[in-house]
Amino acid sequence: MLLRLFVLILCQLAGAALGWWLARAWGAAAGAALGACLWLAGDSWAAARLLAWLRGGAAAEAPRLSGPWGEAADRARRLLREGQRREQASQARLDEILAALQASPNGVTLLDAAGRIEWCNQMAQEHFGLEAARDELQSIGNLVRDPEFTAYLAGGDYAQGVVLPGRGSTPSRPVRIAVHLHPYGDGRRLLLSRDITQLEQAEAMRRDFVANVSHEIRTPLTVLIGFVETLQTLPLDASERAHYLGLMARQGERMQRLVQDLLTLSRLEGSPLPGRHEWVCVRELLRRCQDEAQALSTALAQGGRAHHITFPEAAQAEAAGEIAGSAAELHSALANLVNNAVRYTPAGGSITVRWETQPGGGARFSVTDSGPGIAPEHLARITERFYRVDRSRSRDTGGTGLGLAIVKHVSQRHGAVLRVASLLGEGATFSVEFPASRLRAAQAISAAGTAP
Ligand code: ADP
Repeated sequence: MLLRLFVLILCQLAGAALGWWLARAWGAAAGAALGACLWLAGDSWAAARLLAWLRGGAAAEAPRLSGPWGEAADRARRLLREGQRREQASQARLDEILAALQASPNGVTLLDAAGRIEWCNQMAQEHFGLEAARDELQSIGNLVRDPEFTAYLAGGDYAQGVVLPGRGSTPSRPVRIAVHLHPYGDGRRLLLSRDITQLEQAEAMRRDFVANVSHEIRTPLTVLIGFVETLQTLPLDASERAHYLGLMARQGERMQRLVQDLLTLSRLEGSPLPGRHEWVCVRELLRRCQDEAQALSTALAQGGRAHHITFPEAAQAEAAGEIAGSAAELHSALANLVNNAVRYTPAGGSITVRWETQPGGGARFSVTDSGPGIAPEHLARITERFYRVDRSRSRDTGGTGLGLAIVKHVSQRHGAVLRVASLLGEGATFSVEFPASRLRAAQAISAAGTAP
């Protein structure tokens, strides 16, 4: 301020001196006034430049000014730069938050106080069929036209969420979206959405599984209790008692098999994958399967015609080498397929078991039977737990409905694939294809000196 005053006085003095030299006293007064006007004009011009720069949004280069106006321009420039830096930092932060919301596996939609979409992520767009650019500031109530959602949005009670049919949902392939509104800020709402189709399917499967297990156990249990009551109440002779006890034993065995298969399944699900350090001899596996199949066939034939069962020749079985994995699991899977062929093929039918090397170094174990075959509509579901095509044949031959589920699980755990090919009335072929990485040839075994 002092500087401004000093410059003003200096201008006046210079004007007065010039005026005195030109016209003495009057000249000095006029010169001083002129000096003050010139100073005022210069000062106003500097102020006007500063104002013009500020009014222009300070986008252009700041004017070069001296004195207090120069300092004001300098300070304004620094303040503006600081503001811009802060704005950029908060924009970057906002971008980061939006990117995090974008990466969320759930749908996130931000609604303003009037229920209009302010922002939504990709997942929300998929859940509700929205398009961010097109639907911004559109009312969510107009875009999601489900009556339950409309009532929920209008109701104002957001303690619980609602479940809506998702986009493209059909009765055969339902899509279920759980949505939940959360109020925040001044009347705004956060709409979270989650695809729960798989969760609901898993829950339905769990319920079905529990219902199936209960049913499977209840049936033999009811029969067993019926026999116990018969034995308790009726005066039976020794041969009748033996007959009933025999029937009871069969029901007990049925329950035992079911529990065993359930335990096998739960072990398969809960245990770590079989490693590659245990090598299982294929020849030995085939031999055990063959012995069991023959025994089962003889038992089912009950003195009648047994099956004609063919296994690979000894030399071929010897050349099959070894599989890396769990001996118990592999035996249960392969034996299950062979036993199924025996159980579902009528007496006298033929069953052929093969072990074939595949072009890429893998191997294919297959069981072909001349049984009734399986209709195409059952093929996709045949490995589901408790799914049976021929319920009475399954029960009569000691089936639990869990055999193929176990085979599928064991195959997956060994990197193998279970395939079923069948035509109704023309037998069936069940095969398990093992990858080359889990096999080693007979020569390699003797070279490693680990042959069993
Ligand atoms: P189960 O204990 O009832 O045999 P699985 O899971 O082993 O259960 O098999 C499921 C169903 O697949 C069986 O109930 C049967 O109807 C059908 N199935 C399995 N193997 C054969 C086969 N070789 N030929 C015809 N049907 C078969």
